[in-house]
Amino acid sequence: KGKRAFIAGVADDNGYGWAIAKSLAAAGAEILVGTWVPALNIFESSLRRGKFDESRVLPDGSLMEITKVYPLDAVFDSPEDVPEDIKSNKRYAGSSNWTVKEVAECVKQDFGSIDILVHSLANGPEVTKPLLETSRNGYLAALSASSYSYISLLKHFVPIINPGGSSLSLTYIASERIIPGYGGGMSSAKAALESDTRVLAFEAGRKHKIRVNTISAGPLRSRAAKAIGFIDMMIDYSSANAPLQKELSAEEVGNAAAFLASPLASAITGAVIYVDNGLNAMGVGV
Ligand code: NAD
Repeated sequence: KGKRAFIAGVADDNGYGWAIAKSLAAAGAEILVGTWVPALNIFESSLRRGKFDESRVLPDGSLMEITKVYPLDAVFDSPEDVPEDIKSNKRYAGSSNWTVKEVAECVKQDFGSIDILVHSLANGPEVTKPLLETSRNGYLAALSASSYSYISLLKHFVPIINPGGSSLSLTYIASERIIPGYGGGMSSAKAALESDTRVLAFEAGRKHKIRVNTISAGPLRSRAAKAIGFIDMMIDYSSANAPLQKELSAEEVGNAAAFLASPLASAITGAVIYVDNGLNAMGVGV
């Protein structure tokens, strides 16, 4: 029987989440996505109006179908956590059931279970500030949106992930090496995400037979990356210095995600898998 995937963090066709959805769809999975509430309207209307049709094309010529788009804000676990200003915000008031707990409940009601959970989201309000100039609130917001959001998603989805299932997030090498410009506590958030990948692999593996991995991806010109401001420099640096001198495509990360989610990777868990043209292996620039 075909597998069902829930991919959190898809709001356009430029990011890793979209590419992962495509690779999973090409491998026969049914696709559900979670879209950040403020981005929901434009994403859904663009989908409806055919704006993404070109990028929906799968290798066999068919178009990727997204069975359902769920509004999601992964910094809120349940309705009690949502402050008044967000509740009454126009962009939020039009949607409902978008806290992590509610989304998991809705997916359960609609489909019963899933096999694959993907976390492809991050946010750091002070990402352009050096760590030394980052405020406590900015740092905690980065960790909340980019690290705890994964714990929360896995915690709420675990009861509906079939045994043998697989869960995956996206990380960046700034967690372990100095990448000036990746600020605001985002480097710290990725370090937490990678450490949590190991601990969660143990807990979800022992208790639920679910695998937990993270892909350390090379630079991609996504919407989020453009907001950081140094993405073109990072792409140039990689082409100049990585063992493989080609631009990294989102599809290459999507394909690695499909492999990790598949039975071909049945003994891989708790791992940080580099999909970066090998840049992580270099000790110096050349
Ligand atoms: P993207 O803009 O396509 O994806 C980020 C998504 O997160 C967006 O859709 C945004 O709407 C969503 N989001 C932000 N806050 C949210 C919240 N509170 N609740 C729900 N959704 C929220 O950009 P991307 O670069 O493809 O990012 C996907 C993942 O890949 C992130 O974890 C990112 O750190 C990681 N990554 C990116 C690169 C890169 O160079 N682009 C490199 C390594 C890792």
